[in-house]
Amino acid sequence: MRELEELRGFRHEVGPIRPPSEGGSCSLLLRVVRNCPWSLCKFCYGKPYGRGKFSLRTVEEVKEEVERMGRVVELLREKGEEVWGLLSSLPGESRGALHHLLSWFSSGSRTVFLQDADVLLMPTPRLAEILEEVRRRLGEMERITCYARGRSLFRRSVEELRRLREAGLSRLHVGLESGDQEVLERMNKGLTPQEVVEGGRKAREAGLELSLYYILGLGGEERWEAHARNTARVLNEVDPEFVRVRRLVPLKGTPLFREWREGSFRLQSPHAELRELRLLVEELEFSGRLCFDHFANPFYLTPGGPRWVFDRGYGGYRFPSEREEVLKRIEEGLEREEALYVSSASLSVLETL
Ligand code: SF4
Repeated sequence: MRELEELRGFRHEVGPIRPPSEGGSCSLLLRVVRNCPWSLCKFCYGKPYGRGKFSLRTVEEVKEEVERMGRVVELLREKGEEVWGLLSSLPGESRGALHHLLSWFSSGSRTVFLQDADVLLMPTPRLAEILEEVRRRLGEMERITCYARGRSLFRRSVEELRRLREAGLSRLHVGLESGDQEVLERMNKGLTPQEVVEGGRKAREAGLELSLYYILGLGGEERWEAHARNTARVLNEVDPEFVRVRRLVPLKGTPLFREWREGSFRLQSPHAELRELRLLVEELEFSGRLCFDHFANPFYLTPGGPRWVFDRGYGGYRFPSEREEVLKRIEEGLEREEALYVSSASLSVLETL
């Protein structure tokens, strides 16, 4: 069949990472920009993207890809079984691309994640054009989301963000990491807390959901208290829908790894991390969800296997109603012997998370 033969050359470009909450087969990955434009944060260094050079893909290139995907989706609606049947006979790259699309389709075609690290660097009219093409070719869906650097968000006007919201963008994932100016400077984040406050408010005003990331332990032993207090302050001012906790793990090949090994940065111990978290939670006055949806968040070993202190669901704990539950888990975690925890130092053998 001619249409099915066409699938032999099916390809689309996929970047290396996405947030776990946009994961599995539920999210279709669509690469709009390549790599990270900054690559200088000491704890990351753009390593998830292989420190590759940042570039914008052209609108034409992305739209062609979306159009090809749309044709496959039509075929799937008409001849689902036959398309699945063809999969094993395709060459490797086409098979991978088609498998990704088929998995997304069969799990309900609910969400799309635009890659890579800073999609808001694409000029607004071009990004809006891509978003509209996605909805035209692939249908309406629950959400379309992307990563954005806090500084790029800060530089967008409410009108631009509203234009993107109308075109279909629904949620931004932004790395706040810390609300403490000094921690951000030390980590070379290229961002100020005030920029996140202003950018975050603009996003909310434009009707975009926000998922902000907080790195537990980023202040180290020396600055943990200011890190927790000031992060809570920024989060209270922005009031995002989601705050996602990521435990600091010094990754090989990053400047922070080197500082830690040389002794100029001292990691928090597992109990100290929980105490930092307790302070943050006590000071949080927001109405979103606090989420621990990453395997590296605090866990300890038992004879039955690893146990995580917090539920790892993407929906997390609703605030303020579930604050007490989080605090209770922190206290239980502190009662458990510290030596049973898998420390962030022992996870540092990893190159990426
Ligand atoms: S944390 Fe984000 S902005 Fe910083 S280097 Fe990594 S990908 Fe780039």
